[in-house]
Amino acid sequence: MRLDKLLAHTGYGTRKEVKQLLKDKVVTIDGEVAKNAAQHIDVNKQEVAVLGERIVYREFVYVMLHKPPGVVSATEDLRDTTVIDLLDFELQHFKPFPVGRLDKDTEGLLLVTNDGQLSHNLLSPKKHVPKRYYAHIEGIVTDKDITAFAYGVTLDDGYTTKPAQLTILTSGEVSQIELVIHEGKFHQVKRMFEAVNKKVIYLKRLSMGSLQLDESLALGEYRELTAQELEDLQ
Ligand code: URA
Repeated sequence: MRLDKLLAHTGYGTRKEVKQLLKDKVVTIDGEVAKNAAQHIDVNKQEVAVLGERIVYREFVYVMLHKPPGVVSATEDLRDTTVIDLLDFELQHFKPFPVGRLDKDTEGLLLVTNDGQLSHNLLSPKKHVPKRYYAHIEGIVTDKDITAFAYGVTLDDGYTTKPAQLTILTSGEVSQIELVIHEGKFHQVKRMFEAVNKKVIYLKRLSMGSLQLDESLALGEYRELTAQELEDLQ
């Protein structure tokens, strides 16, 4: 990888700013002052340092975010705060994006990464990755709804959903449920309940594949995945 690209990727500024660092002679490669921004670096063999501080290069970042309501699952938005805006500058440098979308008013687990392959694997309709949601539903959810979801319900656009597992946690004026779906159509959970004439009034994602929301993260907080979480996802 080019030296200027490596430095830009690891948070040392734009290519222009990186050029200045080289002019200032504060970048070293294996202890020698670096002169050429275009020099190729073998990140596995050569040791690059800025002001004596060694650069640890990595290509990918994997962040678990507890998405708060009011924030959009996008990388840029003219009006709203995005999930990327919640990350610190160093992580933003990796150009991460959310793996799939949660609605603006939905909370819970959102994986944010720059690993396109992992994202593709998790979102591919062929892989049927399970997603578990917790929700509050207006009115009483019934055993009939459990059966309907198990067989598949027809959404407003005529699409019939794949079998999904509905569990009623409490039943009343507002019912609490958990739902596991194995696909990810637009507004799927809300539209599935609409299909049985019910309304979702609160929605939170608890897991995606093997990845579970770390409940010690407050809304808006995030952390990088552990090595084990990442291994389990791949
Ligand atoms: N289903 C929805 O309706 N909304 C979400 O944000 C996620 C799943």
